[in-house]
Amino acid sequence: MVPRVVFGRGSFDQLNEILLPKRRNDKAPFIFLIDDVFENNPEIISRIPLIFDDQIIFISSDTEPKTVQVDALVSRINEAFDEKPSGIIGIGGGTLLDLAKAVAIMLNNKGTADQYQGWDLVKKDAVYHVGIPTISGTGAEVSRTTVLTGPVMKLGINSDYTPFDQVLLDPELTAGVPKHQWFYTGMDCYIHCIESLNGTYLNAFSQSYGEKSYELCKEVFYDQSLDEEMSRDKLMMASWHGGMSIAYSQVGVAHAMSYGLSYVLGTHHGEGNCIVFDHLEEFYPDGVKLFKAMKDIHEIELAKGLCAALTDADFDTMIRVSMGMVPLWENALGKDWQQVITPEKLRGMYEKM
Ligand code: NAD
Ligand code: ZN
Repeated sequence: MVPRVVFGRGSFDQLNEILLPKRRNDKAPFIFLIDDVFENNPEIISRIPLIFDDQIIFISSDTEPKTVQVDALVSRINEAFDEKPSGIIGIGGGTLLDLAKAVAIMLNNKGTADQYQGWDLVKKDAVYHVGIPTISGTGAEVSRTTVLTGPVMKLGINSDYTPFDQVLLDPELTAGVPKHQWFYTGMDCYIHCIESLNGTYLNAFSQSYGEKSYELCKEVFYDQSLDEEMSRDKLMMASWHGGMSIAYSQVGVAHAMSYGLSYVLGTHHGEGNCIVFDHLEEFYPDGVKLFKAMKDIHEIELAKGLCAALTDADFDTMIRVSMGMVPLWENALGKDWQQVITPEKLRGMYEKM
């Protein structure tokens, strides 16, 4: 679990106070990995507490994080400084948060990032790392994974060293998120709840967080009785609780299939989950019904015909990646999931998307 968290509108201004005790010396900088959507945003950038050799690296989230990108960032940081950084601070959505976690791990662990994709393969503690989300939904701020696309898989580095040492939740940072992205990433959270609450891995810990997150998502996306500020506050907490829920259970069918889409077509996580989830009445009838209602309220048009031009080889890769997500299928359908989910069944489902 994340041991330290600050929440509040405007709490971004506490960053200096938070980082100061963690600065080892004037040669060990803080590296700020920031979504380049903020590159020309002086209101945010001028509030970053830079001193000594601290560095900002702007990163595009047009493509989701890759293991080679993590390796390149680690080499760049190692070459630029004689000492290990005092810390890595990720500022952005799930993409930047995951990059920050992975870079912090790889600065202290030998080899390349793809060698650690899987469960509990990391052996040494990460460099101190801080997560500051600027869009709500993924739960990446609280989870024990960093999802990376590697040479053969889109798979997380899941470990006890992955979670942030500190998270700063300032809902004001999410004010500029475009509406469609707000919906896609927010629905990622909603889908986390549905998949956790309807999974075989469910337990009282996950359920209590999942139910709270579900309730908050409904307030934000369905009831719509909140003003904008309150809506941002609540979605940020929904994301946190949704992440806590899956941390101790698992996601399910939508995520397993969305990973395949993302691997072959580069479809972004939130959008891919929405596209898949829209077709999952068979598995999550109530959850899909409410999803469709929320989609209508917010006039969201999902992409269609995504798989129309795929070759047999593409489908095979998509199905291999998806079926490789064993814990997700097991959570969704139990130990005998392969009696329900066959390559033919998955192909038929993908062909509808
Ligand atoms: P993202 O980080 O890819 O960002 C989506 C878009 O929103 C980008 O264009 C970004 O520039 C923009 N954006 C972000 N904040 C903004 C702001 N305040 N104002 C304007 N634009 C802003 O999106 P995401 O949905 O948060 O993250 C998706 C990534 O998270 C995927 O790579 C996925 O694999 C990962 N993920 C990780 C976990 C985990 O537990 N580690 C869980 C779910 C998803
Ligand atoms: Zn997700």
